[in-house]
Amino acid sequence: MTDSAEGQFYSVQVGDSTFTVLKRYQQLRAIGSGAQGIVCSALDEVLGIPVAVKKLCRPFQNQTHAKRAYRELVLLKCVNHKNIIRLINVFTPQKSLEEFQDLYLVMELMDASLCQVIHMDLDHERMSYLLYQILCGIRHLHSAGIIHRDLKPSNIVVKSDCTLKILDFGLARTACTNFMMTPYVVTRYYRAPEVILGMKYKENVVYNTQWHLSKQGADGAGS
Ligand code: AMP
Repeated sequence: MTDSAEGQFYSVQVGDSTFTVLKRYQQLRAIGSGAQGIVCSALDEVLGIPVAVKKLCRPFQNQTHAKRAYRELVLLKCVNHKNIIRLINVFTPQKSLEEFQDLYLVMELMDASLCQVIHMDLDHERMSYLLYQILCGIRHLHSAGIIHRDLKPSNIVVKSDCTLKILDFGLARTACTNFMMTPYVVTRYYRAPEVILGMKYKENVVYNTQWHLSKQGADGAGS
């Protein structure tokens, strides 16, 4: 561990990545990684709560990364709902615009992603409650004109008390009816037909994904 930037920050190695974070965030441990970088759990010694710290590695290295970082930050800042991950703090250890390189997002910490939970033998009540919370989160986003575009188990996190939140807004965008939106949105298994075919789409694209998957199943069974 080394001190830097007038003693406000310290650096710690997490896997292959160096996290330079405010000293209030201690006990960093890697808990996941996504397209934008690594996520760690940490203890916020000021608030006395566990948090998740996501490092956006060199968000300005190209236009795609810059857009993702911008979308994630702007959307997380303006959304306030119990089924959407809450942004607690944002900081950069660099001191000037010229040096500006990394961005850290501090969010409330959850226990696991749905990837781990779907292997569990859940009862009907818990499953319904999880589904209900997913729908509440999506409804809130759609009522604000936000399309997530990358909903998948690893972007849905839960706590042991069965509360659930949606995260990762790097591919989200606000709905706009006037122009074609990008057909290239990652994670093909969860992609809706409108997105694959480069057609116009809006908020209900997520429901069409379900339609697409069930239709694939039906077609497969019939042929
Ligand atoms: P992301 O880059 O935001 O897609 O996050 C990558 C992975 O880190 C997710 O699939 C989760 O497993 C984990 N993760 C991200 N944020 C949190 C959080 N707030 N609480 C718990 N785990 C998280």
